[in-house]
Amino acid sequence: MAVKETGVSYYGLSYVEHAKRDFQEMLEHNCNAVILALSEFDIDFWFPNIVAITKAGREMGLKVYLDTWGIGKWFGGEPPSKFLNDNPENRQVSAFSGNKLPHACFVTRAFREYFFDVCEKLAYEVDADGFFWDEPHYALPKSYASITGGAGDDWACRCSVCQQLFQERYGYEMPKLLTREVITFRQERALDILETASRKIKQIRPDSKITCCVHATLNSYYVTEYRGYDNWDKVARSDVFDVFSTTIVSPRLPERFFREITERTVNVAKKYGKTSQRWLMGYYQEPDKLEEVKKTVHLYADLGAESLFAWTYRGGYGTVLAAPSALKLWDTLGEAYGEVLKAK
Ligand SMILES: [Zn+2]
Repeated sequence: MAVKETGVSYYGLSYVEHAKRDFQEMLEHNCNAVILALSEFDIDFWFPNIVAITKAGREMGLKVYLDTWGIGKWFGGEPPSKFLNDNPENRQVSAFSGNKLPHACFVTRAFREYFFDVCEKLAYEVDADGFFWDEPHYALPKSYASITGGAGDDWACRCSVCQQLFQERYGYEMPKLLTREVITFRQERALDILETASRKIKQIRPDSKITCCVHATLNSYYVTEYRGYDNWDKVARSDVFDVFSTTIVSPRLPERFFREITERTVNVAKKYGKTSQRWLMGYYQEPDKLEEVKKTVHLYADLGAESLFAWTYRGGYGTVLAAPSALKLWDTLGEAYGEVLKAK
């Protein structure tokens, strides 16, 4: 299996003439795809230019995917949430303290309707190649991520809506401990909103390719995490997703970790007939020697990943999360993409 797709994410959603120059630079860096990182503010405020920028990207030969970036602080990402700003309720609730958290509860009707409206608007009006579900997760996802076991830390969500649905399903009050039933309930609710949104999108735009990108977690016998999407089989087997993707890994981790995550990603994707996608860190941290980026790109290619993406365009240049040598990192990534695309 050869690498077919190489791309980066992109924040610049303001002016189409600027985006065109940036897309040209992406093409010169051997990208054939781009993921538009759309914050709630972008979707609300810059909508006409999201339509125009998507059109321009496709006309220039790029595949263009829409990332519902940071929406509700349920998806990963730095942008603030308009939903949380406008809506004082419908927040996830800490199981231990009962406090409301700065994350939307995606089980509530209010948030689900809001999110489906966003997806339908994008599907109807933006002529993109697909959608990218970017690191969806519950708040407080790292409970119980301990090799020593024992009582875990806090988890979410135990809001009144989640409690009521749990009670209806199991016939008793939702526990404050993360029991087997609570884990299953959380996973099912987490998957349901993405599956429902994906189906709505495909009804409007049947060719839309849906990528589900989950965190690159260990999921070993001893250590797991509780974002709601950490059982990769449950996610990848869903018939509405076309691409199974796992997130970036810090370049400070050993090669063995990159290899294991990629092997597991490719294997799970193959098992359920999905395209496999792996991510590279193209911002914030970089390897001591930039050439290591090429080794990682080749490793992913050799292990059979079909789609490669890096976060983000120009190594995050100009943001607080820029890589130390952002523009050099971007150039090295572009060279690496060229090498694996030629090899196919
Ligand atoms: Zn809830």
